[in-house]
Amino acid sequence: MRIRLLATSTLLALVAGCASQPSSAPGTLLPESVQAIVSASDNKLDATLWMQQSAEYEAAMLGSFALARQQLDLALADPQWDAMPTGERKVPAKGLPPALITDADETLLDNSPFQARSIRAQNTEFSYDAWLSWVSERRARALPGALAFYRYAAEQGVTVYYVTNRDDPAERAATIDNLRALGFPVADDGSNVILRNDPRAPGREKGVRRSWISERHRVLLMLGDNLGDFLDGVAVSPLARHTLVERNRTRWGTQWIMLPNPAYGSWESAILRECGERAKSDPNRCKRDALRLQ
Ligand SMILES: [Mg+2]
Repeated sequence: MRIRLLATSTLLALVAGCASQPSSAPGTLLPESVQAIVSASDNKLDATLWMQQSAEYEAAMLGSFALARQQLDLALADPQWDAMPTGERKVPAKGLPPALITDADETLLDNSPFQARSIRAQNTEFSYDAWLSWVSERRARALPGALAFYRYAAEQGVTVYYVTNRDDPAERAATIDNLRALGFPVADDGSNVILRNDPRAPGREKGVRRSWISERHRVLLMLGDNLGDFLDGVAVSPLARHTLVERNRTRWGTQWIMLPNPAYGSWESAILRECGERAKSDPNRCKRDALRLQ
């Protein structure tokens, strides 16, 4: 769900004419003009229903985690196996203990009730306060297949690192509590939960945190629902994002497992960014224009 914040920050950047500004500070509502933009582009009804109600989504998730388990077994048996992105590993993996790197939101935690409440209330503008309130409830459920997979990994001696763009420190305690209550493997000191702005590896993108982990572990798998869960530099055009996927073609389904998320993600902000100034006044027009007709 933090990707919604990233999308929002992209819109903020569009408004400001600067592509690299961070999202709003915790506890603040977005400027009114940006709320209107987000609201107008917030057609999430079908996507949210699909994730909450469809048997197809459940089946896709169960299949993804079944694949992840198969690949984890292969990785454990192959000492040469390392899932780190090209260029992010700073020390050799040989001899290091095994770990996996996973995103949290819409990878193993289900935040669809947050989206559903916004839709029901016809109040779809995003605010960090509303998001923080949802996180503070600590009531996100586990997504289908997730709990069994991560517990299996931990039983095999694989350290599970939750690398999430939820904010440190504002969302740290609630996130750890939520994961623990569901039964996900979390260290007593919470050290395997690494949020954005974690002092051990501060940075907006996840690459710095992945590198920090890779100094201590051989990385067997990565799991996420967003391209940024696997690579840095994904805030580029839709075409360039496809190039990034193609360049890493052999990773998908082997070392990197992408979970489906049709509701939100950096794919959406890429479309709006490509649209330029018009994204501010009519984001849905931008999306219709992006449709491929043949
Ligand atoms: Mg996610």
